[in-house]
Amino acid sequence: MRILIVDDEPAMRDSYRRSFAGPRSSTGEALDAMAVELFGNDALGDDAPPGPDANASAFALTYCDQGLDAVAAVERALAEGAPFTVAFIDVRMPPGIDGRETARRIRALDPEINLVIVTGFSDFSPIEISKVAGPADKIFYIAKPFEVAEILQTATALAQRWQNDRDLAAARDLLAAQVVQLEEQAAELAANESRAIHLAMHDSLTDAPNRLAFLRALAARTRSEGLFATVMIDLDRFKLVNDTLGHLAGDALIREICAILNRSTPDGALVARLGGDEFGILFDTSSEAAAVMACELIVAACSVTLQVFGNSVQGGASAGVVVTAGAGAGTVTGGSDPVDVIRRSDLALNDAKRGGRGIVRLFDESMDEGIRFRRRVEGGLSQAIARGELSLAYQPIVSRDAIEVVGFEALVRWNTSEYGLMSPATFIPIAEESNLIHELGDWVLHEALDVLKQWPGQYVSVNFSPRQFRRHNFVGHIMESVQRAGIAPARLQIEITETAIFDDAERAAETLYKLRQMGFRIALDDFGTGYSSLYNIRKFALDCLKIDKSFIDGMGRERESAAIVHSIIHLGRALGLGVIAEGVETEAQVQALRLAGASHLQGYYFSRPVGADDALAMAQGRILSGKDDVSNDDPTIRQTFGLRS
Ligand code: C2E
Ligand code: CA
Ligand code: CA
Repeated sequence: MRILIVDDEPAMRDSYRRSFAGPRSSTGEALDAMAVELFGNDALGDDAPPGPDANASAFALTYCDQGLDAVAAVERALAEGAPFTVAFIDVRMPPGIDGRETARRIRALDPEINLVIVTGFSDFSPIEISKVAGPADKIFYIAKPFEVAEILQTATALAQRWQNDRDLAAARDLLAAQVVQLEEQAAELAANESRAIHLAMHDSLTDAPNRLAFLRALAARTRSEGLFATVMIDLDRFKLVNDTLGHLAGDALIREICAILNRSTPDGALVARLGGDEFGILFDTSSEAAAVMACELIVAACSVTLQVFGNSVQGGASAGVVVTAGAGAGTVTGGSDPVDVIRRSDLALNDAKRGGRGIVRLFDESMDEGIRFRRRVEGGLSQAIARGELSLAYQPIVSRDAIEVVGFEALVRWNTSEYGLMSPATFIPIAEESNLIHELGDWVLHEALDVLKQWPGQYVSVNFSPRQFRRHNFVGHIMESVQRAGIAPARLQIEITETAIFDDAERAAETLYKLRQMGFRIALDDFGTGYSSLYNIRKFALDCLKIDKSFIDGMGRERESAAIVHSIIHLGRALGLGVIAEGVETEAQVQALRLAGASHLQGYYFSRPVGADDALAMAQGRILSGKDDVSNDDPTIRQTFGLRS
């Protein structure tokens, strides 16, 4: 700890020396005294030589006898990075500057130093000195003559305080630096976040909103009222530019077009780059005609010659547009599901592209692949019978106890010229929506009854769609069919679904009653998938329930399915109904269903649906399945059907 002592009187400086001397050898003191006598005060280090004063262990003392020397010493100490902690300053030091001026100049150099003004009489009031060399808490006063102990005590206390202040200031600076750093980091994070959000919602090439942003905006728009247009734009010849002039040229073209789109769209429109050379535009409109007109302006604006890297490139775009009404109003075309809106404007765009370049197309139903597919299926179905493309597959229904084939479900197959073998799950619903279902159903019924004649006693189970069931004079029609085929009604099982009977329950109940009276078997198909409860079906004349295969499938996995299967079987039996479990595929299912009390089983485990010849063989008890891929490990079944291990 460096201490500066400024006093012009040698005697005073001696007093200081004594103050800092502490307990030490008399030799040292004698030597000091000798040195002073020989060389004057300088010998004991008035300022120079620097380094610790021999008199103090904790303090390094520097003595000056003039104010200006002291100021110079402070300046030097600061420059060396070893500042004084305390300066004791005499007030009167002729001929140089006085103590007050010395204090003022030192303070100007070093704001941290503690100043102790040592004064014999009140030359200056403390306030006067504080005024020029403040702050007040760094200026102290000691009256001359002072006690030796007083100086050491003051020096120790002030030096300690100086050190504490310094440590504190360092800690404060560190803290302040950390706060600044944290603030910088926070600012950077915030910037990163908004950059990330921007990046996630914008296309990096054009800085336009991207597909995600477009989808969000569209979803929001569909929820508010009024007509709006969703436009898909695709650049003409873009691939050509990319391939011949390079990707950079392609990028430049995309940016140019994006700017053109932004200029040429109606006010308030959203222009998004969806990817590649595809753009999406969203704007409010008053009508389909107005939307098409706006699109034509956009397409025309794109049809300009652009300069791309010194090459002239002919711009051009095609557009597909669909006009939709947001929630709350009637829709113009289709619904307002955002995904469907995009799908339809894409269809319109495809149509535009097929038509050539620079074309605008408004979506209409005929563009919809789904709709077109239906039309084609309808067209094909109407000729399927005449062309002999329909056939029936038969799947055995097996009794639980006797393990015998009691009947076969007839399942229609259509080998289409256009699509190959098509699932009835695809074409039956289409036939159901047109009148074709009647023609198709009649064919199935006649074919099934015809094949049935060869079987020793089994019934055939034929599926009837709701529309067939509700047809005028359904009962008479069926009766006539079996009579013509010469078949007993008991050998025809009519499979209907819940939807067929619950839409007009009263009439359905009557129809079923009549059919049952005549001896037909009636099965409620896909049971469990609809809304009917077992309580509701009491009033219908039924023979059995077919538990939907989704429950059989879920039995091994979900408690819920197993519970549903059990309760259907239980209550079905209580109502005196047979219960057929369909979609039985595994040995484990067979065991579980037998245990639960299902009366009949049907599924791949026993046999897949097979052709008429194989069905006949099964009916005659020769084999269970015409196919070898049936996993059939049950010895009882093997025995019954004469299967060899
Ligand atoms: P469905 O009446 O529920 O017929 C059972 C369906 O499950 C058949 O499909 C059958 O092949 C299949 N299946 C049988 N066992 C299993 C099995 O163990 N596992 C699995 N995963 N599936 C099995 P298919 O032949 O494709 O018939 C589909 C649907 O088409 C039928 O469902 C029925 O609703 C309808 N359908 C079929 N033929 C006709 C018909 O002649 N007229 C009417 N109206 N509808 C029919
Ligand atoms: Ca069925
Ligand atoms: Ca079924």
